[in-house]
Amino acid sequence: MEVDIVCVGFGPATAGFLTAISQAPGLPPLQIVCYERADDIGFGVSGVVTRARGIRASLPGLDLDQIPMATRVTSEKVVYLRPPSRARNAIDLPYIPPFLRKHDGIVMSIGQFLQYAGGQIMGAGVAQIWPGMPVSEAIVEDGRVCGVRLAGMDVRAPLTIVGDGPVGAVGRQLADSEPKEWAVGMKMVVDLPESATLPAGTVLHTFGYPEPGIFGFLYVHPGNVASVGIFVPSWMQAPTQTAYEYLQHFMLHPYLWRHLQGGRLRSWGAKSLNEAGRTATPLLVGDGFARIGEGSGSTNVLTGSGVDEAWTTGVQLAEGVIELLREGKPLTRENLETAYLARRRASWLETEAQAAAHARDGFHHGLLPGLLGMALAGFSNGRVALRGKPKPLSDTPPPPREWPPIPYDGRLLVSHQDALLMGGKVQAPGGFEDHVRFLDPAVCRRCGYQRCIQMCSGQAIAAGDGAVPSFDREKCVHCGACLWNCRHGVLAFQAGAGGLHSSEN
Ligand SMILES: Cc1cc2nc3c(=O)[nH]c(=O)nc-3n(C[C@H](O)[C@H](O)[C@H](O)COP(=O)(O)OP(=O)(O)OC[C@H]3O[C@@H](n4cnc5c(N)ncnc54)[C@H](O)[C@@H]3O)c2cc1C
Repeated sequence: MEVDIVCVGFGPATAGFLTAISQAPGLPPLQIVCYERADDIGFGVSGVVTRARGIRASLPGLDLDQIPMATRVTSEKVVYLRPPSRARNAIDLPYIPPFLRKHDGIVMSIGQFLQYAGGQIMGAGVAQIWPGMPVSEAIVEDGRVCGVRLAGMDVRAPLTIVGDGPVGAVGRQLADSEPKEWAVGMKMVVDLPESATLPAGTVLHTFGYPEPGIFGFLYVHPGNVASVGIFVPSWMQAPTQTAYEYLQHFMLHPYLWRHLQGGRLRSWGAKSLNEAGRTATPLLVGDGFARIGEGSGSTNVLTGSGVDEAWTTGVQLAEGVIELLREGKPLTRENLETAYLARRRASWLETEAQAAAHARDGFHHGLLPGLLGMALAGFSNGRVALRGKPKPLSDTPPPPREWPPIPYDGRLLVSHQDALLMGGKVQAPGGFEDHVRFLDPAVCRRCGYQRCIQMCSGQAIAAGDGAVPSFDREKCVHCGACLWNCRHGVLAFQAGAGGLHSSEN
């Protein structure tokens, strides 16, 4: 098939691109298709609290009442969670540094927002968005990207937009560098108990528990529904629990549990975050292709914001492409650099990305240097930062640590397997091969500490015969954590269909 523009992935970045294209007057008719690997639009995972500066600039009349689960931020707190056994087990910080504040922002569900944005885009007749269609690879001929390959079909286009997120297979195929800093973000959407008193728009950011290095959040949506989640970073080296177990201990912290007890799990999911940001910016443009969103290093680890940044990169690319199309210029690397990258480098996105570039480096030396490094970078706009480099992943399992047992209640505190069925409703359509493969069984056999098993968000990777892990597609939530947790680089994480079946995350 031949089209004018083909997009890989429908996350906030591509939604920003297509929205801006749909608003451009007087463009010649274009055939634009967007392929999304998940089984429907918005079946992804995110927070979300966002200042939505870019989103609101694109959608000035945005009416939050039209988007389920969206509301304005009404209150915001940063809380230091201490061990529950301490007499004072939580401390509300008296002050939120300006770079972290989201008080003028929006609490929403990225899934619901993407369904809204996707509806507007398709309603405008600008693009077709096809979910359930994983792109296997980009077609590259003589150094030029000429389109994409799906199972059984090639789609050729003068421009391929790569917006496949932090662990996308096409983005990695066209990259010239790899991020070294990651986190797995895991969250639950919860029906709060009737007795809950937290108003819609409440935003809590936490740190300190269940491990000093784990950041958490609780955001309240309209209708007595909350998003609760944590980030387990790669600099923690050797987690003593899976992210799922950490999430349960996090929710059980008395500071949060008093609001959650009696609640019910609605949905659940996990996704990797590229925490390297600007320091790991891969090749952003080439002949016939441009990269947007988190895979382009847009997530800001200082402000804790990725959705609006991803959206804005999409808008900036759209503005550049519109300019090139109007001037009748070809979509070459050089022209895309001038039209897209120059815009991006001159914008607030770049200024803030520079301030954030080394903001998290201090965490390689521990929690306190990490927090200090963030404060220094934040208050000095990146001029001062504590420097540090990621260490190679540890090859020994962490020492065992005693954790209290989880008091399963069958509603909110459920087993990992039940979360897959009840909360993730994870599915794997037939007709696709395994998207996680172990490329060198001999290396897997020698690998003493199989972190890919430990870090698998869905228990899809398990101990297999002869110490080569096994993979179960029916349990994979496509978080991609296995990719950056293989110390030997022998795990292939390709594009696959299926995964989570919820548009609330
Ligand atoms: C738990 C969690 C909480 C977060 N909280 C916040 C928050 O509060 N505020 C905030 O601003 N940000 C938050 N983020 C970060 C935010 O989610 C990301 O920065 C943002 O989603 C990046 O958008 P994107 O469009 O670049 O990529 P993505 O959202 O990752 O979208 C990429 C899309 O491409 C699809 N795809 C991948 N490979 C292929 C392929 N081969 N073929 C077809 N489709 C493909 C994926 O399924 C996905 O839908 C959070 C992230 C997590 C995990």
